[in-house]
Amino acid sequence: TDLSKLRNFSIIAHIDHGKSTLADRLIQRTGGLTEREMSSQVLDNMDIEKERGITIKAQTVRLDYTAKDGETYVLNLMDTPGHVDFAYEVSRSLAACEGALLVVDAAQGVEAQTLANVYQSIEHDHEIVPVINKVDLPSADPDKVKKEIEDIVGLPADDAVLASAKTGIGIDEVLEAIVTRIPPPKGDRDAPLKAMLVDSWYDPYLGVVILIRVIDGAIKKGQNVKFMAGGTTHLVDRVGAFRPKIEQLPELGPGEIGFITAQIKDISETRVGDTITDVRRPATEALPGFKEVQPVVFCGLFPVDAADFEKLRESISKLRLNDASFSFEMETSAALGFGFRCGFLGLLHLEIIQERLTREYDLDLITTAPSVVYKIHLTKAAGEAEARTIELHNPADMPDPNRIASIEEPWIEATIYVPDEYLGSILKLCQDRRGIQKNLTYVAGRAQLTYELPLNEVVFDFYDRLKSISRGYASFDYHQIGHREGDLVKMSILVNNEPVDALSMIVHRVAAEARGRHMCERLKDLIPRHLFKIPIQAAIGGKVIARETIAALRKDVTAKCYGGDISRKRKLLEKQKEGKKKMREYGSVSIPQEAFIAALRMG
Ligand code: GDP
Ligand code: MG
Repeated sequence: TDLSKLRNFSIIAHIDHGKSTLADRLIQRTGGLTEREMSSQVLDNMDIEKERGITIKAQTVRLDYTAKDGETYVLNLMDTPGHVDFAYEVSRSLAACEGALLVVDAAQGVEAQTLANVYQSIEHDHEIVPVINKVDLPSADPDKVKKEIEDIVGLPADDAVLASAKTGIGIDEVLEAIVTRIPPPKGDRDAPLKAMLVDSWYDPYLGVVILIRVIDGAIKKGQNVKFMAGGTTHLVDRVGAFRPKIEQLPELGPGEIGFITAQIKDISETRVGDTITDVRRPATEALPGFKEVQPVVFCGLFPVDAADFEKLRESISKLRLNDASFSFEMETSAALGFGFRCGFLGLLHLEIIQERLTREYDLDLITTAPSVVYKIHLTKAAGEAEARTIELHNPADMPDPNRIASIEEPWIEATIYVPDEYLGSILKLCQDRRGIQKNLTYVAGRAQLTYELPLNEVVFDFYDRLKSISRGYASFDYHQIGHREGDLVKMSILVNNEPVDALSMIVHRVAAEARGRHMCERLKDLIPRHLFKIPIQAAIGGKVIARETIAALRKDVTAKCYGGDISRKRKLLEKQKEGKKKMREYGSVSIPQEAFIAALRMG
């Protein structure tokens, strides 16, 4: 395709502002889909995405659009993931485009992810076209939103397009703006092939599908290509694009976005951000900015029913086929038996995987306390030339405290964007989580806060708390800023005098007592009464720092109906059995599945 007739753009927006709806509408208007095919949102195609209204994997569609100037253009639309956990994927998608539609809800105005996305977009030198969406809503106030875009975002908004992705208002204007305002890509057809690996996923029919943006040269079926960071070579067996249905193409030239397949079985061979080049005539330099993504949050996943272990292994392996950023290895726990230690990009990522395992694979799971990755500097052991440093993913593996010289924990820099009235409570939340305030500014009645926070304090429930304190108005974005030393200790939880390793966690010494007390109180409510008294304790080393006791049940539940109604008695017993299914036995104590996560939430 002639470079001047190409336009590559992404849509950026805060969650729920209408990104996916707009994308679907653009596809429909340019003839990619019929009305019937439009009936469900096209771009968000996983169940969970639909339900949570978030886009997990970036998707790309190639559209043909005949503009008012009579020329036909090829538009490549990239939908980007909308959550901080997937920031790197967003960054790669943006790097593949020359411009972006900035969608802002006409009733809600600018939000934190609007800003975070705009900053990223600007970093990639994008031409940004503001689109004020949902103008059909009675509460829409496009003029106010225009002013916000100018004052807060710092972009001219005079020529913002007013649109409704729902009713179709302004869609033609959006298409014209893409053609007239977003620049065509640059690229050299005669230079050696250089293409960026933007995304990849596993398709049961095609194998691993790789989404690419060609920078220079062209890629064809039958070509031998090399992945520069991965170091592997592959034979390209398909080249094409999504319209949104798959269409094979003879080639992808400079500036074009599309997919290739190359008989790759394992998605971990395809690293987002890698440079693809020709084997015989390779590019001399890879594209800049390649980064290996590393899991930052770990937790254990165990089947409630030990007999489900094999099923869990199969299900996890299947999910992993489509998500190379998630890691797993087998783990055994004294209390929980066989399971897996899994690594995730963030908490949302963890929840998504956990939910898919539960829902799509019908597994009852116990999730242990999420943990970040600690660096532990050990003291020099006898006979060792040098003191060792280990990375700790699992509190259960914490070395003997006498062997620890120091512990470092990961920190993040968080940007929070919140209406004035909630600022006080948000500051308190950050303070309680050992945050260090770096900056506070006001724009248009809202505060923009920058905090440094230990990731450890964020993984449990920070995001949920932030949302509930601000009634959903606060928005949050973060990036990691490295490890720092901290006074950290392992806190164990003992139920009926036995440590439950799945509940042990690493905490800051000053926060340990409050957290221990809280855990004991929560567990007291969550663990049902038994026929005997159950002590619950939190301890650091051998020292108990908090304690609660669950009183004994006075009678067997069936005792009430002795002599009488047999069927009622049977029903009660069955009910009890049903309840047991979702519990795990710890020695003689049954702990319900939900206790594991619920106990971790800080009130
Ligand atoms: P995304 O999270 O940015 O992808 O947002 P979605 O496209 O999923 O839209 C979020 C919600 O807003 C959905 O319920 C849409 O139906 C609704 N929505 C999207 N565009 C419009 C619009 O122009 N007008 C109205 N009234 N609702 C819209
Ligand atoms: Mg969406």
